[in-house]
Amino acid sequence: MKKLTKIKVAFLDRDGVINKKADEHCYITRLEDFVINDDIIDDCLDLKKQGFEFIVITNQRGIARGLLSTSTLKDIHALMREEFKKNSIDILDVFYCPHNIDSCDCRKPKDGLLRQACLKYDIDLPNSILISDSVEDLQMGKKFGIGNNIFYGL
Ligand SMILES: [Mg+2]
Ligand SMILES: [Zn+2]
Repeated sequence: MKKLTKIKVAFLDRDGVINKKADEHCYITRLEDFVINDDIIDDCLDLKKQGFEFIVITNQRGIARGLLSTSTLKDIHALMREEFKKNSIDILDVFYCPHNIDSCDCRKPKDGLLRQACLKYDIDLPNSILISDSVEDLQMGKKFGIGNNIFYGL
């Protein structure tokens, strides 16, 4: 049975928000390169108090380019969840685009990842927020109906 109340979600971009970004044109391909930004943990704790659930949406073209395997990406995301969990924050889900440019409808700033999340969960979009270091992501969120789209640069 679907929950009667819709959930409000904080959609989090990954690179540059949750973790420190790789250098330009580089990807996070190893666990040791995944360095969490301490501030986002504090911010998420505040959001948790306000009743938000957390969903990560991230482009990972390194997979299409053969620079990163799906299994390594899953390990990185398991580590990310673990680090959040240590701080009492549960990440509800992670949606990622593994595709190359112009080959899918889920590579941000296309809205496929948001649509996937909405198919799986009953989300209160106007009361949800999207946090990203990409202005294009924020425009996508706004167009999609997310109430609050917040720029977050490391
Ligand atoms: Mg980013
Ligand atoms: Zn895609």
